[in-house]
Amino acid sequence: MGGMAGSWIERADRVLMPTYGRRPVTFVRGAGCRLWDDAGKRYLDLAAGIGCCCLGHGDARLAAAIGEQAARLIQVSNLYYSEPMVAVAEGLCTHSFGERVFFCNSGAEANEGAIKLARKRSRDQFGPGRFRVLGFRQSFHGRTLATLSATGQAKVWKGFEPLVEGFDFADYGDLASVEQALTDAHCAILVEPIQGEGGIVVPPAGFLAGLRRLCDERDLTLIFDCVQCGMGRTGKLFAHQHEGVRPDVMTVAKGLGGGVPIGAIVATEAAGTVLTPGSHASTFGGNPLVCAAARVVLDALTEGGVIANAAARSTQFFAGLAAIQGRVAGMEAVRGRGLMIGVALDAPVAPILDRLRAAGVIALAAGERVLRLLPPLVISAAEVEEGLAAIEQALRQR
Ligand SMILES: *Cc1c(COP(=O)(O)O)cnc(C)c1O
Repeated sequence: MGGMAGSWIERADRVLMPTYGRRPVTFVRGAGCRLWDDAGKRYLDLAAGIGCCCLGHGDARLAAAIGEQAARLIQVSNLYYSEPMVAVAEGLCTHSFGERVFFCNSGAEANEGAIKLARKRSRDQFGPGRFRVLGFRQSFHGRTLATLSATGQAKVWKGFEPLVEGFDFADYGDLASVEQALTDAHCAILVEPIQGEGGIVVPPAGFLAGLRRLCDERDLTLIFDCVQCGMGRTGKLFAHQHEGVRPDVMTVAKGLGGGVPIGAIVATEAAGTVLTPGSHASTFGGNPLVCAAARVVLDALTEGGVIANAAARSTQFFAGLAAIQGRVAGMEAVRGRGLMIGVALDAPVAPILDRLRAAGVIALAAGERVLRLLPPLVISAAEVEEGLAAIEQALRQR
């Protein structure tokens, strides 16, 4: 990758905005849970492009569907119908509480639309003034102005004030705090069924059901942000299905396209008929290309045994991590569900991630001190063992 002056990484850093603090690795190829960099080094991927590549890399059915659809039809806009979009919408509704779907391109955009939906629903029914959305501290909902304002972490607000008006925060997992925070000006509660970026936090049993009850009592729209915990990640297609609680609206993205950018708002009939022509739109949203990918993902998850594998590998991961916790100092807690796993450490996680990467294992952080694992849902038992051994080694070197 020569050519212009300077190393490849120097060239890249000259033209890309300095938004990410990228690690000095350039991936060129993947297969299953393996990645290869431009020097030919092989890695075990426990990050899946931040939980997106649920079928792993290089999945043959996914690649074929994308290739065939690309040759047939990529984009027509939402001024017309297209077949893959309807198939994915039907699939999402068949396998969830949903009755109506709106497609967009990312998680933030799905949450942005869900917030608009909740505001308009309340306004249509109750008139102006009832527009506030109650969210939670340590949440994460995206980087657009409305979704960063809805995010309960000051670090994402810094420099972008004034924030969008109308967001308040309660303590995650604490129903009393929610009751205290709700006012007559609220129209919705926005919550991750399991907090992701905030540190992989599973709320106490009954919390989501309690939110459902409060929303029913006060005519609030209950929005579940399933962008990270959806699409089989937790061992069910959607995390709230573990609790048997139904929202009015859920947002999905990350795993939905298996790595291809697609987001969706899934809603009940009552909530899903609020956004009418002229009130919301997306040029690319749900185009034939990305929906061809999402159709393969949905089929694999609902019929292909992928979620059963995720549940089995989860049991193996949690048992292995508990054993490591007994042998190695510095692990404060192991949290999560399915293959959405957080290991809370007593020190910063960044050096652990560097050590893992040097040893050929890619993992993630959630905040400063949580090691986060979001492997492809197709990970094998042998790969889990390999990952566990590398994690133990990296923690021992501290
Ligand atoms: C990643 C994430 C988002 C934002 O998704 P983008 O596709 O990056 O816009 C929103 N909510 C949750 C819970 C997420 O994990």
